[in-house]
Amino acid sequence: MSLLHPVVTRFAPSPSGAMHVGHALAAYVARRMADLHGGFCLLRIEDIDTMRTRDKRWIELMMEDLDWLGLHFDGNIMVQSSRFDIYATALETLRSMGLLYPCFCTRARLSAAAHDIARAPHEGIAPQRRYSRHCRSITPTEAAERIAAGEPHSWRIDMQRVQDLIGCPTWEDLRAGVQRCIPSACEDVILSRKDTPTSYHLAVVIDDAQQGVNLVTRGADLMSSTPIHRAIQALLGLPTPLYAHHDLLLDGHTGKRLAKRTGAASLKALRDAGFSAKQVMASIDRALKRGGMWSMEE
Ligand code: GLU
Ligand code: ZN
Repeated sequence: MSLLHPVVTRFAPSPSGAMHVGHALAAYVARRMADLHGGFCLLRIEDIDTMRTRDKRWIELMMEDLDWLGLHFDGNIMVQSSRFDIYATALETLRSMGLLYPCFCTRARLSAAAHDIARAPHEGIAPQRRYSRHCRSITPTEAAERIAAGEPHSWRIDMQRVQDLIGCPTWEDLRAGVQRCIPSACEDVILSRKDTPTSYHLAVVIDDAQQGVNLVTRGADLMSSTPIHRAIQALLGLPTPLYAHHDLLLDGHTGKRLAKRTGAASLKALRDAGFSAKQVMASIDRALKRGGMWSMEE
């Protein structure tokens, strides 16, 4: 496999709290991959969830933290909350292809159903396929009536239909090699809801293409989302970047995944505790060599 030139990577945080050492690792990996290949590393603020990211001070604190760490980015910063129109247009394209259906399930119903699936994995339901497609069988007439009556709903993508349309395209991870996207094995994810008229899955695909990102570096927790992204790229005629999913940080003492908001691992807390940026970056470097096991102690 050969990397495209120039390599364009990005760091795409969702600023809903203080930046954690795990975010620093993600930023560092993106920056380093760009630097290794003489390329560019862009910054994108993923703030489509306007409730969770309404406090803009998190962005300021994040910029301070990144500056303190010596992590800098190229070009203009893209801000997703200023791009809702663009996502809406793409959503309409998918709708006009007959790929969206309304889901009227309440949160309670969804968690009860997820529970049933988790208890019956032998029944042939892929574990990642959480949503039972319960609302897929609602007739268009009934759906239209319920929408007209003001019943709350979100819009899901019918991945079986996606497969009928695009088949099973491939994508490539730098570490794991060539992967095949099997749309029907993916969940019918939500692409739009009332309070958030787009979704991470839609926005990330559109913006990576818009920013010319050709190498997506991100945590291994998102590896299971990549087939969904690959499918959306195929549907919207967008290019497919290379991917490099990196290890997530684990607590060096317990081996457990560092909780997102573990106070002690916030960059601000490390800074306030007297650690230097150099020490923090060195701890990240060590963790990368130890499968993610992170500790400030050498
Ligand atoms: N905004 C996502 C997050 O903070 C990252 C998205 C991505 O890298 O694709 O988890
Ligand atoms: Zn439903």
